[in-house]
Amino acid sequence: MTSKSARFETLAIHAGQAPDPTTGAVMTPIYQVSTYAQEGVGNHKGYEYSRTDNPTRTALQDCLAALEGAKHGLCFASGLAATDVLVRALVKPGDLVVCGDDVYGGTYRLFDKVHRNVGLKFLYADFSRVNLVDAIPDGTKLVWLETPTNPLLKVADIEAVAARAHAVGAKVVVDNTFATPYFQRPLSLGADFVVHSTTKYLNGHSDVVGGVMMTSDTEAYDQIKFLQNAAGAVPGPMDSWLTLRGLKTLHVRMDRHMESGLKLVDWLVKHPEVTHVYHPLLETHPNHAIAKRQMSGFGGMISFELKGDAGRAGRFVAATKVFTLAESLGGVESLLEVPALMTHASIEPEKRRAIGITDGLIRLSVGLEHIDDLVEDLEGAFRA
Ligand SMILES: *Cc1c(COP(=O)(O)O)cnc(C)c1O
Repeated sequence: MTSKSARFETLAIHAGQAPDPTTGAVMTPIYQVSTYAQEGVGNHKGYEYSRTDNPTRTALQDCLAALEGAKHGLCFASGLAATDVLVRALVKPGDLVVCGDDVYGGTYRLFDKVHRNVGLKFLYADFSRVNLVDAIPDGTKLVWLETPTNPLLKVADIEAVAARAHAVGAKVVVDNTFATPYFQRPLSLGADFVVHSTTKYLNGHSDVVGGVMMTSDTEAYDQIKFLQNAAGAVPGPMDSWLTLRGLKTLHVRMDRHMESGLKLVDWLVKHPEVTHVYHPLLETHPNHAIAKRQMSGFGGMISFELKGDAGRAGRFVAATKVFTLAESLGGVESLLEVPALMTHASIEPEKRRAIGITDGLIRLSVGLEHIDDLVEDLEGAFRA
């Protein structure tokens, strides 16, 4: 096992993992097992039943925690399962949660259609431009922040949000799925918890659905671990192993996602058929200064507005050959989608338009194919 002070790239490959003690296997085995032999009642090697703990999952949890600079990590069967358990551990009926106004569509659906029905209260705010004292009123128990947001890539000042939240006694969760710990470390900026959909960049190969929550608050961790076992939405050993394998190349992938993403941004900004490009590293981005201060880079997520109506956006996304028309993001392959019709269709149309998700908005997840093939593919779609 590596020391916690090792650098990111080394932690991504080694943290939480040591050669298997019985065989010397260099890679953590897939412990495809549900139960563990005990020498006497209660006398075991730390593992009793795989809902509670599984060695492959333990390795993944420890590796992820090291990358986020957290003391603890807990993995779940999906990003939304992590979100659900974290909210239920931190607030109770009657409590107020303040949430970003363009969070992941499934997060909004969980809050609005599930948690609201059991008595939690939600307020929504655009953390990228709102007065934080107004947005986070006295009595708030939890602040749920996504930055950069999906799909408009708005950026909130994590340090400022955390300072205001802590002043009223609220905890802060940052969904760090888009930036990844390679480019942004919310705990070091004052957040109390980080969640990820590991489905996206962390696993990075579009072959697993998973989630994780990380924290250095040991008391909260104990409570969340209790719920992880009590409610049971845990990832299996095979999925844990695939994600652990994906993590080993996270830094290399993120560097290339960023390099290709920035080339495409430059090209799209100059394109006569594009009216607007959203990317936090663009100097014209309204939150560019905060993005530069709190992120060391950004991956391959780009949104842009196409000239013309929604019909044209539909024709555009159907015409690409290298970019696959699909939901999700963060994999080695390039994807594109129309948020209003796909990932954000569960948000009411009026609310969607009010926050700026127009029918002609197209979201790209730039993969690791050759950049010239990606440009040629989009150029073909512009002509379609
Ligand atoms: C995908 C996603 C989620 C939900 O994760 P699942 O693994 O699909 O449950 C949450 N937040 C963000 C930002 C996402 O992109």
